[in-house]
Amino acid sequence: VSISPTLAEFTAEATAFVSSHARPRTDEFVWGKGSDVIPFFDGVDDEHVAIVKAKGWAQTRFDAGFGWVAGPAEYGGRGLPMPYDLAYRIVESEFDVPDTSHLELGMGMVGPTVLAWGTPELREKFLRALYRGDLVACQLFSEPEAGSDLAAVKTTAVRKDEGWLISGQKVWTSDAQHSQLGLALTRSNPEVAKHKGLTMFLVDMDTPGVQIRPLRQMTGGAHFNEVFFDDVFVPDDRRLGDVDGGWRVALTTLMNERGSVGTGPPATMAALSHRRLMALAEHVGMDRDPVTRQDLGALYTGFTIARYLDEIGRARVLSGADPGPEASVLKLMFSANLTAAATLATDLLGPSAAADTGEWGTFSWSNFLLATPALRILGGTEEIMKNVIAERVLGLPKEPAPG
Ligand SMILES: Cc1cc2nc3c(=O)[nH]c(=O)nc-3n(C[C@H](O)[C@H](O)[C@H](O)COP(=O)(O)OP(=O)(O)OC[C@H]3O[C@@H](n4cnc5c(N)ncnc54)[C@H](O)[C@@H]3O)c2cc1C
Repeated sequence: VSISPTLAEFTAEATAFVSSHARPRTDEFVWGKGSDVIPFFDGVDDEHVAIVKAKGWAQTRFDAGFGWVAGPAEYGGRGLPMPYDLAYRIVESEFDVPDTSHLELGMGMVGPTVLAWGTPELREKFLRALYRGDLVACQLFSEPEAGSDLAAVKTTAVRKDEGWLISGQKVWTSDAQHSQLGLALTRSNPEVAKHKGLTMFLVDMDTPGVQIRPLRQMTGGAHFNEVFFDDVFVPDDRRLGDVDGGWRVALTTLMNERGSVGTGPPATMAALSHRRLMALAEHVGMDRDPVTRQDLGALYTGFTIARYLDEIGRARVLSGADPGPEASVLKLMFSANLTAAATLATDLLGPSAAADTGEWGTFSWSNFLLATPALRILGGTEEIMKNVIAERVLGLPKEPAPG
Protein backbone atom coordinates (compact mmCIF):
# COMPACT_ATOMS: atom_id res chain seq x y z
CA VAL A 1 0.00 0.00 0.00
CA SER A 2 1.44 3.38 -0.87
CA ILE A 3 1.03 6.02 1.80
CA SER A 4 0.59 9.66 1.02
CA PRO A 5 2.65 11.64 1.85
CA THR A 6 5.74 9.45 1.48
CA LEU A 7 8.16 9.47 4.41
CA ALA A 8 10.50 11.76 2.46
CA GLU A 9 7.68 14.18 1.58
CA PHE A 10 6.48 14.17 5.18
CA THR A 11 9.99 14.84 6.50
CA ALA A 12 10.33 17.80 4.11
CA GLU A 13 6.92 19.10 5.23
CA ALA A 14 7.92 18.71 8.90
CA THR A 15 11.23 20.48 8.33
CA ALA A 16 9.46 23.39 6.62
CA PHE A 17 7.01 23.65 9.54
CA VAL A 18 9.56 23.49 12.37
CA SER A 19 12.07 25.76 10.62
CA SER A 20 9.39 28.43 10.23
CA HIS A 21 9.04 28.50 14.05
CA ALA A 22 12.51 27.80 15.42
CA ARG A 23 16.21 28.08 14.71
CA PRO A 24 18.39 25.00 14.10
CA ARG A 25 19.96 23.74 17.32
CA THR A 26 23.72 24.15 17.54
CA ASP A 27 25.88 22.35 20.05
CA GLU A 28 28.78 24.68 19.52
CA PHE A 29 30.60 25.26 22.77
CA VAL A 30 33.23 27.91 23.41
CA TRP A 31 34.57 28.23 26.94
CA GLY A 32 33.46 31.45 28.64
CA LYS A 33 30.88 32.39 25.99
CA GLY A 34 27.13 32.68 26.55
CA SER A 35 25.20 30.90 29.28
CA ASP A 36 27.02 28.23 31.26
CA VAL A 37 23.81 26.54 32.44
CA ILE A 38 23.54 22.81 31.72
CA PRO A 39 19.81 22.25 31.31
CA PHE A 40 18.92 18.95 32.93
CA PHE A 41 15.75 18.09 34.87
CA ASP A 42 15.55 21.49 36.49
CA GLY A 43 15.83 23.49 33.31
CA VAL A 44 16.74 27.09 32.85
CA ASP A 45 13.19 28.32 33.37
CA ASP A 46 10.87 28.31 36.29
CA GLU A 47 8.62 25.23 35.84
CA HIS A 48 5.46 27.33 35.39
CA VAL A 49 7.11 29.39 32.68
CA ALA A 50 8.41 26.20 31.03
CA ILE A 51 4.89 24.72 31.01
CA VAL A 52 3.35 27.83 29.43
CA LYS A 53 6.00 27.73 26.69
CA ALA A 54 5.58 23.96 26.24
CA LYS A 55 1.79 24.29 25.91
CA GLY A 56 2.12 27.09 23.37
CA TRP A 57 4.42 24.98 21.21
CA ALA A 58 2.32 21.81 21.62
CA GLN A 59 -0.78 23.70 20.46
CA THR A 60 0.96 25.19 17.42
CA ARG A 61 2.36 21.77 16.55
CA PHE A 62 -0.98 19.98 16.98
CA ASP A 63 -2.93 22.53 14.98
CA ALA A 64 -0.41 22.18 12.14
CA GLY A 65 -0.91 18.40 12.05
CA PHE A 66 2.35 17.34 13.74
CA GLY A 67 1.18 16.94 17.34
CA TRP A 68 0.04 13.33 17.14
CA VAL A 69 1.43 11.97 13.92
CA ALA A 70 0.58 8.28 14.49
CA GLY A 71 -2.73 8.91 16.29
CA PRO A 72 -6.10 7.96 14.76
CA ALA A 73 -7.69 10.78 12.77
CA GLU A 74 -11.05 10.42 14.60
CA TYR A 75 -9.38 11.68 17.82
CA GLY A 76 -7.31 14.41 16.18
CA GLY A 77 -4.26 12.41 15.12
CA ARG A 78 -2.68 12.45 11.68
CA GLY A 79 -3.31 8.75 11.09
CA LEU A 80 0.19 7.99 9.75
CA PRO A 81 2.35 4.93 10.60
CA MET A 82 4.81 4.96 13.54
CA PRO A 83 7.94 5.63 11.42
CA TYR A 84 6.41 9.02 10.53
CA ASP A 85 6.08 9.85 14.23
CA LEU A 86 9.77 9.13 14.78
CA ALA A 87 10.70 11.03 11.60
CA TYR A 88 8.92 14.09 12.97
CA ARG A 89 10.63 13.81 16.34
CA ILE A 90 14.04 13.50 14.69
CA VAL A 91 13.36 16.69 12.70
CA GLU A 92 12.15 18.52 15.82
CA SER A 93 15.20 17.43 17.85
CA GLU A 94 17.37 19.35 15.41
CA PHE A 95 15.68 22.67 16.22
CA ASP A 96 15.63 24.88 19.26
CA VAL A 97 11.92 24.47 20.12
CA PRO A 98 10.47 24.86 23.65
CA ASP A 99 11.11 21.88 25.91
CA THR A 100 7.90 19.84 26.13
CA SER A 101 9.13 17.34 28.72
CA HIS A 102 6.41 18.40 31.21
CA LEU A 103 3.82 17.19 28.67
CA GLU A 104 5.61 13.92 27.91
CA LEU A 105 3.83 11.83 30.55
CA GLY A 106 0.50 12.87 29.04
CA MET A 107 1.53 12.29 25.44
CA GLY A 108 3.92 9.40 25.90
CA MET A 109 2.29 7.30 28.61
CA VAL A 110 -1.22 8.42 29.60
CA GLY A 111 -2.35 9.09 25.99
CA PRO A 112 -1.44 5.62 24.63
CA THR A 113 -3.10 4.02 27.68
CA VAL A 114 -6.34 5.94 27.14
CA LEU A 115 -6.24 5.03 23.44
CA ALA A 116 -5.71 1.33 24.20
CA TRP A 117 -8.13 0.96 27.13
CA GLY A 118 -10.47 3.96 27.23
CA THR A 119 -14.14 3.88 26.28
CA PRO A 120 -15.00 5.94 23.16
CA GLU A 121 -16.26 8.68 25.55
CA LEU A 122 -12.94 8.82 27.46
CA ARG A 123 -10.96 8.87 24.21
CA GLU A 124 -13.12 11.69 22.90
CA LYS A 125 -12.80 13.64 26.14
CA PHE A 126 -9.07 13.35 26.72
CA LEU A 127 -6.95 12.37 23.71
CA ARG A 128 -7.06 15.59 21.71
CA ALA A 129 -6.54 17.63 24.91
CA LEU A 130 -3.54 15.52 25.95
CA TYR A 131 -1.79 15.65 22.58
CA ARG A 132 -2.57 19.34 22.08
CA GLY A 133 -0.95 20.07 25.43
CA ASP A 134 -4.21 21.49 26.83
CA LEU A 135 -3.99 19.03 29.72
CA VAL A 136 -0.97 18.14 31.84
CA ALA A 137 -1.13 14.57 33.15
CA CYS A 138 0.76 12.53 35.71
CA GLN A 139 1.40 8.88 36.43
CA LEU A 140 0.25 7.80 39.91
CA PHE A 141 1.89 4.37 40.13
CA SER A 142 4.76 4.30 42.67
CA GLU A 143 4.06 4.14 46.40
CA PRO A 144 6.30 4.08 49.47
CA GLU A 145 6.27 0.26 49.31
CA ALA A 146 5.72 -0.29 45.60
CA GLY A 147 8.31 0.80 43.03
CA SER A 148 10.23 -1.91 41.21
CA ASP A 149 7.62 -4.30 42.57
CA LEU A 150 4.77 -2.23 41.20
CA ALA A 151 2.08 -4.89 41.65
CA ALA A 152 2.44 -4.37 45.42
CA VAL A 153 0.43 -1.09 45.35
CA LYS A 154 -1.79 -0.64 48.38
CA THR A 155 -3.87 2.43 47.54
CA THR A 156 -7.40 1.05 47.76
CA ALA A 157 -10.41 1.49 45.49
CA VAL A 158 -13.69 0.52 47.13
CA ARG A 159 -17.06 0.44 45.33
CA LYS A 160 -19.42 3.29 46.22
CA ASP A 161 -22.69 3.99 44.39
CA GLU A 162 -21.86 4.73 40.72
CA GLY A 163 -18.14 4.82 41.35
CA TRP A 164 -15.25 4.20 43.69
CA LEU A 165 -13.65 5.70 46.79
CA ILE A 166 -9.86 5.84 46.51
CA SER A 167 -7.64 6.10 49.59
CA GLY A 168 -3.89 5.79 50.06
CA GLN A 169 -0.57 7.37 49.12
CA LYS A 170 1.48 7.70 45.96
CA VAL A 171 5.04 9.01 45.82
CA TRP A 172 7.58 10.34 43.28
CA THR A 173 4.70 11.58 41.11
CA SER A 174 6.40 13.82 38.55
CA ASP A 175 4.52 17.01 37.70
CA ALA A 176 1.47 16.17 39.88
CA GLN A 177 1.46 19.79 41.05
CA HIS A 178 0.96 20.94 37.44
CA SER A 179 -1.47 18.20 36.37
CA GLN A 180 -5.19 18.27 35.76
CA LEU A 181 -5.38 14.52 35.15
CA GLY A 182 -3.77 11.52 36.88
CA LEU A 183 -3.52 7.87 35.85
CA ALA A 184 -3.91 5.98 39.13
CA LEU A 185 -3.18 2.31 39.78
CA THR A 186 -5.21 1.06 42.75
CA ARG A 187 -5.93 -2.15 44.66
CA SER A 188 -9.57 -3.12 44.17
CA ASN A 189 -9.30 -6.68 45.51
CA PRO A 190 -6.92 -7.50 48.39
CA GLU A 191 -8.04 -11.17 48.46
CA VAL A 192 -6.42 -12.38 45.22
CA ALA A 193 -2.81 -12.66 43.94
CA LYS A 194 -1.30 -9.17 43.84
CA HIS A 195 -1.30 -8.77 40.02
CA LYS A 196 -4.93 -9.85 39.84
CA GLY A 197 -6.53 -7.33 42.21
CA LEU A 198 -5.60 -4.00 40.60
CA THR A 199 -7.80 -1.46 38.81
CA MET A 200 -6.77 1.66 36.84
CA PHE A 201 -8.56 5.02 36.91
CA LEU A 202 -8.30 8.46 35.35
CA VAL A 203 -8.60 10.89 38.25
CA ASP A 204 -9.25 14.65 38.06
CA MET A 205 -6.49 16.08 40.23
CA ASP A 206 -8.79 18.76 41.65
CA THR A 207 -11.24 16.20 43.10
CA PRO A 208 -11.89 16.81 46.83
CA GLY A 209 -9.64 14.56 48.94
CA VAL A 210 -6.59 14.70 46.61
CA GLN A 211 -3.67 16.35 48.37
CA ILE A 212 -0.40 17.08 46.55
CA ARG A 213 2.78 17.74 48.53
CA PRO A 214 5.90 18.64 46.53
CA LEU A 215 9.14 16.85 47.44
CA ARG A 216 12.22 19.05 47.45
CA GLN A 217 15.19 17.40 45.70
CA MET A 218 18.86 17.94 46.41
CA THR A 219 19.06 20.07 43.24
CA GLY A 220 16.77 22.56 44.98
CA GLY A 221 13.91 21.93 42.54
CA ALA A 222 10.64 20.18 43.38
CA HIS A 223 9.97 18.09 40.31
CA PHE A 224 7.95 15.38 41.99
CA ASN A 225 5.46 14.93 44.79
CA GLU A 226 3.70 12.83 47.34
CA VAL A 227 0.01 12.50 46.48
CA PHE A 228 -2.47 11.53 49.18
CA PHE A 229 -5.99 10.22 48.48
CA ASP A 230 -8.54 10.50 51.22
CA ASP A 231 -11.86 8.92 50.14
CA VAL A 232 -11.59 10.44 46.68
CA PHE A 233 -14.74 9.70 44.66
CA VAL A 234 -14.06 8.59 41.09
CA PRO A 235 -17.02 7.69 38.86
CA ASP A 236 -16.95 4.20 37.35
CA ASP A 237 -16.90 5.68 33.83
CA ARG A 238 -13.34 6.88 34.59
CA ARG A 239 -12.14 3.28 34.90
CA LEU A 240 -9.65 2.05 32.27
CA GLY A 241 -9.97 -1.66 31.52
CA ASP A 242 -11.73 -4.26 33.62
CA VAL A 243 -12.30 -4.23 37.37
CA ASP A 244 -9.24 -6.12 38.74
CA GLY A 245 -7.69 -5.95 35.23
CA GLY A 246 -5.42 -2.97 36.00
CA TRP A 247 -2.13 -4.83 35.70
CA ARG A 248 -2.56 -5.27 31.94
CA VAL A 249 -3.43 -1.59 31.65
CA ALA A 250 -0.30 -0.66 33.64
CA LEU A 251 1.84 -2.76 31.29
CA THR A 252 0.51 -0.74 28.34
CA THR A 253 1.57 2.45 30.12
CA LEU A 254 5.04 1.16 30.94
CA MET A 255 5.64 -0.25 27.46
CA ASN A 256 4.87 3.12 25.97
CA GLU A 257 7.54 4.93 27.89
CA ARG A 258 8.48 7.09 24.97
CA GLY A 259 11.83 8.54 24.22
CA SER A 260 14.03 5.53 24.78
CA VAL A 261 15.10 5.27 21.18
CA GLY A 262 15.60 7.73 18.44
CA THR A 263 14.58 10.98 20.07
CA GLY A 264 18.05 12.30 20.37
CA PRO A 265 18.60 12.99 24.05
CA PRO A 266 21.34 10.37 24.49
CA ALA A 267 23.34 11.74 21.59
CA THR A 268 22.63 15.37 22.40
CA MET A 269 23.39 15.06 26.09
CA ALA A 270 26.48 13.02 25.40
CA ALA A 271 27.90 15.49 22.91
CA LEU A 272 27.13 18.31 25.28
CA SER A 273 28.73 16.71 28.32
CA HIS A 274 31.78 15.41 26.53
CA ARG A 275 32.60 18.64 24.76
CA ARG A 276 32.10 20.60 27.94
CA LEU A 277 34.19 18.16 29.94
CA MET A 278 37.13 18.53 27.56
CA ALA A 279 36.89 22.30 27.84
CA LEU A 280 36.65 22.01 31.62
CA ALA A 281 39.75 19.75 31.78
CA GLU A 282 41.63 22.33 29.75
CA HIS A 283 40.38 25.18 31.94
CA VAL A 284 41.54 23.54 35.18
CA GLY A 285 44.88 22.57 33.60
CA MET A 286 44.24 18.80 33.64
CA ASP A 287 44.04 18.17 29.91
CA ARG A 288 47.59 16.73 29.85
CA ASP A 289 47.01 14.57 32.91
CA PRO A 290 47.20 10.88 31.80
CA VAL A 291 44.40 9.63 34.09
CA THR A 292 42.06 12.46 33.05
CA ARG A 293 42.85 11.75 29.39
CA GLN A 294 42.11 8.07 29.94
CA ASP A 295 38.76 8.91 31.58
CA LEU A 296 37.88 11.29 28.74
CA GLY A 297 38.76 8.58 26.21
CA ALA A 298 36.61 5.99 27.99
CA LEU A 299 33.72 8.45 28.06
CA TYR A 300 34.09 9.20 24.37
CA THR A 301 33.92 5.47 23.65
CA GLY A 302 30.81 5.08 25.80
CA PHE A 303 29.08 8.05 24.15
CA THR A 304 29.95 6.79 20.67
CA ILE A 305 28.62 3.29 21.33
CA ALA A 306 25.39 4.80 22.71
CA ARG A 307 25.04 6.92 19.58
CA TYR A 308 25.47 3.89 17.31
CA LEU A 309 22.92 1.92 19.34
CA ASP A 310 20.52 4.83 19.08
CA GLU A 311 21.03 4.91 15.31
CA ILE A 312 20.35 1.16 15.03
CA GLY A 313 17.12 1.62 17.02
CA ARG A 314 16.09 4.59 14.86
CA ALA A 315 16.75 2.67 11.66
CA ARG A 316 14.63 -0.22 12.93
CA VAL A 317 11.68 2.00 13.81
CA LEU A 318 11.96 3.98 10.56
CA SER A 319 11.76 0.72 8.62
CA GLY A 320 8.55 -0.18 10.46
CA ALA A 321 10.00 -2.71 12.96
CA ASP A 322 10.02 -2.70 16.78
CA PRO A 323 12.94 -0.84 18.43
CA GLY A 324 14.56 -4.14 19.50
CA PRO A 325 16.81 -4.94 22.45
CA GLU A 326 18.96 -1.84 21.89
CA ALA A 327 16.25 0.18 23.69
CA SER A 328 16.88 -1.54 27.04
CA VAL A 329 20.65 -1.42 26.63
CA LEU A 330 20.49 2.23 25.67
CA LYS A 331 18.71 3.25 28.86
CA LEU A 332 21.48 1.64 30.88
CA MET A 333 24.22 3.17 28.75
CA PHE A 334 22.63 6.59 29.00
CA SER A 335 22.66 6.57 32.80
CA ALA A 336 26.13 4.96 32.96
CA ASN A 337 27.62 7.54 30.57
CA LEU A 338 26.12 10.52 32.32
CA THR A 339 27.11 9.16 35.74
CA ALA A 340 30.70 8.77 34.50
CA ALA A 341 30.59 12.30 33.07
CA ALA A 342 29.31 13.69 36.38
CA THR A 343 32.01 11.81 38.33
CA LEU A 344 34.77 13.13 36.11
CA ALA A 345 33.40 16.69 36.34
CA THR A 346 33.35 16.43 40.15
CA ASP A 347 36.99 15.24 40.16
CA LEU A 348 38.05 18.11 37.90
CA LEU A 349 36.12 20.80 39.76
CA GLY A 350 37.01 19.83 43.30
CA PRO A 351 35.58 22.30 45.83
CA SER A 352 34.17 24.63 43.15
CA ALA A 353 31.54 21.97 42.40
CA ALA A 354 30.14 22.62 45.85
CA ALA A 355 30.68 26.36 46.36
CA ASP A 356 29.87 29.13 43.91
CA THR A 357 32.96 31.27 43.35
CA GLY A 358 31.26 33.13 40.51
CA GLU A 359 33.71 31.65 38.02
CA TRP A 360 32.08 30.91 34.62
CA GLY A 361 31.44 27.23 33.80
CA THR A 362 32.28 25.73 37.19
CA PHE A 363 29.46 25.86 39.76
CA SER A 364 27.00 25.64 36.86
CA TRP A 365 27.81 21.90 36.79
CA SER A 366 26.28 21.38 40.23
CA ASN A 367 22.68 20.94 39.00
CA PHE A 368 23.82 18.27 36.53
CA LEU A 369 25.93 16.53 39.18
CA LEU A 370 23.05 16.44 41.65
CA ALA A 371 20.38 15.46 39.10
CA THR A 372 22.26 12.59 37.45
CA PRO A 373 21.60 9.94 40.16
CA ALA A 374 17.85 10.16 39.39
CA LEU A 375 18.54 8.70 35.95
CA ARG A 376 19.68 5.46 37.55
CA ILE A 377 16.26 5.05 39.17
CA LEU A 378 13.49 6.53 37.01
CA GLY A 379 11.71 4.39 34.43
CA GLY A 380 13.17 1.17 35.92
CA THR A 381 16.31 1.10 38.07
CA GLU A 382 19.65 -0.02 36.65
CA GLU A 383 19.33 -3.35 38.49
CA ILE A 384 15.85 -3.94 37.06
CA MET A 385 17.05 -3.02 33.55
CA LYS A 386 19.93 -5.50 33.90
CA ASN A 387 17.44 -8.20 34.87
CA VAL A 388 15.27 -7.32 31.86
CA ILE A 389 18.26 -7.56 29.52
CA ALA A 390 19.47 -10.79 31.10
CA GLU A 391 16.09 -12.52 31.03
CA ARG A 392 14.29 -11.12 27.98
CA VAL A 393 17.14 -10.19 25.65
CA LEU A 394 19.81 -12.77 26.49
CA GLY A 395 17.37 -15.50 27.58
CA LEU A 396 19.23 -16.25 30.83
CA PRO A 397 17.39 -18.09 33.64
CA LYS A 398 15.06 -15.99 35.78
CA GLU A 399 16.34 -14.27 38.91
CA PRO A 400 15.40 -16.39 41.97
CA ALA A 401 12.52 -14.76 43.90
CA PRO A 402 13.63 -13.20 47.23
CA GLY A 403 12.84 -15.09 50.44
C1 LIG B 1 13.14 11.45 38.65
C2 LIG B 1 12.11 10.42 38.96
C3 LIG B 1 10.81 10.58 38.50
C4 LIG B 1 9.84 9.63 38.81
N1 LIG B 1 8.56 9.85 38.37
C5 LIG B 1 7.58 8.97 38.68
C6 LIG B 1 6.22 9.21 38.29
O1 LIG B 1 5.91 10.22 37.65
N2 LIG B 1 5.27 8.33 38.65
C7 LIG B 1 5.56 7.20 39.36
O2 LIG B 1 4.64 6.43 39.62
N3 LIG B 1 6.83 6.94 39.78
C8 LIG B 1 7.85 7.80 39.46
N4 LIG B 1 9.14 7.57 39.88
C9 LIG B 1 9.40 6.42 40.75
C10 LIG B 1 10.17 5.30 40.08
O3 LIG B 1 9.37 4.62 39.15
C11 LIG B 1 10.66 4.38 41.19
O4 LIG B 1 11.54 5.13 42.02
C12 LIG B 1 11.39 3.19 40.66
O5 LIG B 1 10.51 2.32 39.98
C13 LIG B 1 12.10 2.40 41.78
O6 LIG B 1 11.23 2.10 42.81
P1 LIG B 1 11.58 2.46 44.35
O7 LIG B 1 12.04 3.88 44.39
O8 LIG B 1 10.42 2.05 45.17
O9 LIG B 1 12.84 1.56 44.69
P2 LIG B 1 12.82 0.01 45.09
O10 LIG B 1 11.98 -0.74 44.12
O11 LIG B 1 12.47 -0.10 46.55
O12 LIG B 1 14.33 -0.38 44.87
C14 LIG B 1 15.35 -0.14 45.84
C15 LIG B 1 16.65 -0.78 45.34
O13 LIG B 1 16.48 -2.21 45.24
C16 LIG B 1 16.77 -2.66 43.92
N5 LIG B 1 15.85 -3.73 43.52
C17 LIG B 1 14.51 -3.77 43.70
N6 LIG B 1 14.00 -4.91 43.19
C18 LIG B 1 15.04 -5.61 42.68
C19 LIG B 1 15.15 -6.88 42.00
N7 LIG B 1 14.09 -7.63 41.75
N8 LIG B 1 16.39 -7.26 41.60
C20 LIG B 1 17.49 -6.50 41.83
N9 LIG B 1 17.45 -5.30 42.47
C21 LIG B 1 16.23 -4.86 42.88
C22 LIG B 1 16.55 -1.44 43.03
O14 LIG B 1 17.29 -1.51 41.82
C23 LIG B 1 17.03 -0.30 43.93
O15 LIG B 1 18.43 -0.18 43.87
C24 LIG B 1 10.16 8.48 39.59
C25 LIG B 1 11.47 8.31 40.04
C26 LIG B 1 12.43 9.25 39.75
C27 LIG B 1 13.83 9.05 40.26
